[in-house]
Amino acid sequence: MNDHTACVICTSDLWEDEAGRSICRPCQQRIDRNLQSIAGPCGLYARLALRTTPGKGSDGPAVSGTRGSSMPPSEHVLNLVANGGIASDLEAWVDDWASHGLAQTSAGGRLQYRVDQAVKTLRLNLPQAALRHPALKDFNHEIRKIIRTCKRIIDNEKPPIELRAQCPCGGTIPFTLNTDGETCRSCETPYSHGDILRLDLAERRAAA
Ligand SMILES: [Zn+2]
Ligand SMILES: [Zn+2]
Repeated sequence: MNDHTACVICTSDLWEDEAGRSICRPCQQRIDRNLQSIAGPCGLYARLALRTTPGKGSDGPAVSGTRGSSMPPSEHVLNLVANGGIASDLEAWVDDWASHGLAQTSAGGRLQYRVDQAVKTLRLNLPQAALRHPALKDFNHEIRKIIRTCKRIIDNEKPPIELRAQCPCGGTIPFTLNTDGETCRSCETPYSHGDILRLDLAERRAAA
């Protein structure tokens, strides 16, 4: 039984009717949406896989970018899409959740099928995991990392800019705009996503 008083992901206080949970409902919904965005024929995994078959994407959306589509896929992208990549990362979490009685492992199949199955069982068991799984913060972190990696490749995106907020204690807190919340390392004050955006930005100074 958990006795958390704050969400382990965003650090906002849990409501009375969220007693026994380790994460708040909004965080649970975010995780669910994130998982959903990876799977399916239009999901991030499928779109990433499309990038590894240049010239064969006629049944999918045209790959945008000025030169990107004519370039051979990088080894990095191939590794993500192959066995040992995203599918295996998700299955490792399925195995972990299964060891807590929170998921059903399924064996084999094509990579897209494996991704879809892993996402399906994780989403199905997420409401129970919110009550019982001991490492949802790590789970959330890794799912977001998978999504960021996919999106960066699909959109040719640059990594998010790292900003620094000024904590009233004098400390500075590095964060990016898609943070779930951060904790000041100097005074250990937790800030939610909204709170951290309300802080002043720290001056960028040359390393002292
Ligand atoms: Zn939360
Ligand atoms: Zn502080």
